[in-house]
Amino acid sequence: MAKQPFIPPFGKEVKLSDYSTREAEPAGRDKGKKEIEELRLELEELHELIVADGRFPILVLLQAPDAGGKDGTIRSVFDEVDPLGVNSVGFKAPNDEELAHDYLWRIHRQMPGKGHVTIFNRSHYEDVLVVRVRNLAPKERWKKRYDHINNFERMLTDEGMVIIKFFLHISKDEQRERLQERIDNPKKQWKFRAGDLEDRALWEDYQAAYEEMLERCNTEYAPWHIIPADRNWYRDLMVGRIIRDRLNELGLRYPPPEPGVAGRTVV
Ligand code: ADP
Repeated sequence: MAKQPFIPPFGKEVKLSDYSTREAEPAGRDKGKKEIEELRLELEELHELIVADGRFPILVLLQAPDAGGKDGTIRSVFDEVDPLGVNSVGFKAPNDEELAHDYLWRIHRQMPGKGHVTIFNRSHYEDVLVVRVRNLAPKERWKKRYDHINNFERMLTDEGMVIIKFFLHISKDEQRERLQERIDNPKKQWKFRAGDLEDRALWEDYQAAYEEMLERCNTEYAPWHIIPADRNWYRDLMVGRIIRDRLNELGLRYPPPEPGVAGRTVV
């Protein structure tokens, strides 16, 4: 796999404070926005090719603190993509039926089939994030999940799935501004939950949980990308580029026509 700039070194401790939440080239905004428009069209073509090629299930997975921009990223990056053949799944607190099963049960059922793209808005990683920070399961239980998750993702990729994981990295100040905007703007108030402030009060605990997730579940077969996400345009540009580059590595191709189709005339 080509080296990506935002993949943390494998097997090394991850300190989020070492990773910027801001764009690398502030002057590049206008150029960046133009490039995003081109990227959307490239992704639309690549998506068509994934469907036609039909060999690969593609999973794009997003985790972020509240107001980290998961929805906005999906909307922007997949703006031009044909809604047939792509779907996004959001994972909320598990319902009774889900709680009656192991934590990967509801996740596995939502996995894409071959020739299909699925976007996870939150994921099985909540089971080592909110579950850990909010003490929803004892430590002896969630501690084992990093290994389960690695094995699960290994199985999926061994069977042909392409997994592209993004952590949208925002600063605590940026989150304050975004949550305040949700409270102040009547059109955004519906997005605000009182639980957002409770989670914000646990910011440091969440950062520690993200760090362990990024360290323990960062593998060659399903690496994490830490995306500087305080600026939407830069976040979208980086996510779009990484998805495009990864898909380009797959050698996607249109399947040959059925025998005798080429050269026929429709009457
Ligand atoms: P989002 O913020 O993703 O747009 P919501 O505001 O409905 O959507 O938040 C979903 C909530 O569900 C989050 O607080 C998240 O922590 C919680 N959640 C997701 N997965 C789990 C889980 N496995 N266990 C407990 N809570 C979970």
